[in-house]
Amino acid sequence: MTILVAGAGIAGLTFALTCHQIGVPVKLFEQVADIRPLGVGINLQPHAIRELFELGLAEQLEPVGIRTREVAYYSKHGRLIWSEARGHDAGYNWPQFSVHRGRLQLMLLAMLRERLGQDAVETGWKATGFSQDDQGVTLELESRDGIKRSERGSLLIAADGIHSAIRAQMNPTEGPPVWGGAVLWRATSRAKPFLTGASMAMAGHEWQKFVTYPISVPDPKTGLVDINWVAELKKTPDALWNREDWNRPGRLEDFLPAFEKWDFDWLDVPALIKAADAIYEYPMVDRNPLDKWGEGRVTLMGDAAHPMYPIGSNGASQAILDARVLGKCLVEQGLSKQALITYEDERRPATSRIVTANRGNGPDQIMQVVEEKCQGMFEHITDIMSTDELHEHAARYKALAGFDRDTLNSRPPLIGGDKGNAQSTGNRNGDPADV
Ligand SMILES: Cc1cc2nc3c(=O)[nH]c(=O)nc-3n(C[C@H](O)[C@H](O)[C@H](O)COP(=O)(O)OP(=O)(O)OC[C@H]3O[C@@H](n4cnc5c(N)ncnc54)[C@H](O)[C@@H]3O)c2cc1C
Repeated sequence: MTILVAGAGIAGLTFALTCHQIGVPVKLFEQVADIRPLGVGINLQPHAIRELFELGLAEQLEPVGIRTREVAYYSKHGRLIWSEARGHDAGYNWPQFSVHRGRLQLMLLAMLRERLGQDAVETGWKATGFSQDDQGVTLELESRDGIKRSERGSLLIAADGIHSAIRAQMNPTEGPPVWGGAVLWRATSRAKPFLTGASMAMAGHEWQKFVTYPISVPDPKTGLVDINWVAELKKTPDALWNREDWNRPGRLEDFLPAFEKWDFDWLDVPALIKAADAIYEYPMVDRNPLDKWGEGRVTLMGDAAHPMYPIGSNGASQAILDARVLGKCLVEQGLSKQALITYEDERRPATSRIVTANRGNGPDQIMQVVEEKCQGMFEHITDIMSTDELHEHAARYKALAGFDRDTLNSRPPLIGGDKGNAQSTGNRNGDPADV
């Protein structure tokens, strides 16, 4: 019997492509009628890129973004605190990518339709709830004009994002996402490349921050690139703010004045902000880690399972890892409730740690430490922190988020080799519906 997936975002699509790779029937239901390339830039860490490459998507990824070569942290005065190579330049077997979220989603959708057929994803159907019994799971769906129907499957994977209807059914008293007080203004601007031309830069501290990186190669005629940026201001969490909506337009007057003086010798921040054509505002929210993701034949994935602050470039990367680890569990244990338990046992603690670390600023905490020590003004950073301290800080978050270089380079593929087909392994009688 087919695996049902609610939500055709990065998590749902990667999982469906994984199901195709391991020979498991899958069907996705997406609430929007027409999937458009929404969002701005996101970063995909080498462990996530490895999984996309192992899905045979290396060639398709190239036009969706660029290979990130460096990550650099600066104080609010534009002084360099720490920089390190990334991806291949740092000795990883896989690159890091800076991509446009919407273009990545459309690429995954196109590849899924090519491999599985047009009807692998049904759009315009919102998942509203589920029930289950000994034979399978029933997913309740509703169209935009109020038509209701249901689908039967063997398992249900809720990849329906931060406002997951399936998570809400399993956790009826949870309430809305938790806001920590920061507001993000996000956009892309057409501008000249900065630093290496493929650098991700962070400047500021906990209360005011600017994050930026290019997501396209230079136009051969103008030399200009699309530069993604996020301006962040933190308020007290009791301040009133708008509900989270990735597509809410932002207003320059709400944040530009705070960044007017941030004209550094490596980047003119106010000029970059003013060059944007559309700005989006988003309150930085997450949810408290859950004690349990699954219920029998149902589990959560991606932002439905562990929405986290967009710090340390982890939201999409962790969603991709979820999809691949669940694929591995299906290969090893068949289409079974046990596979969902094993998946949760591996992924829930790992992602809960990142949600918590990101509440403490994740890798960006280094900027706050420098702000507290010297208000971001120094001649040499080593007058403020030792090189060992700087190294240790960077290494700690990479290990926590699962992309320590040597560990990643030396581990075997999650899926592949002679274990590549869930219908031929793991399941006692070889029946994929044996749950
Ligand atoms: C429109 C949009 C824009 C975004 N822009 C950014 C950005 O600029 N920067 C950033 O860091 N992150 C952004 N994100 C979040 C980012 O994509 C995720 O953090 C990450 O990729 C994890 O992906 P996900 O698939 O778990 O969740 P999502 O990417 O949120 O995907 C969830 C999918 O499920 C669908 N869905 C929701 N509810 C239901 C339902 N009840 N039934 C069926 N389908 C449902 C949604 O329409 C969406 O397609 C955006 C998300 C969305 C939906």
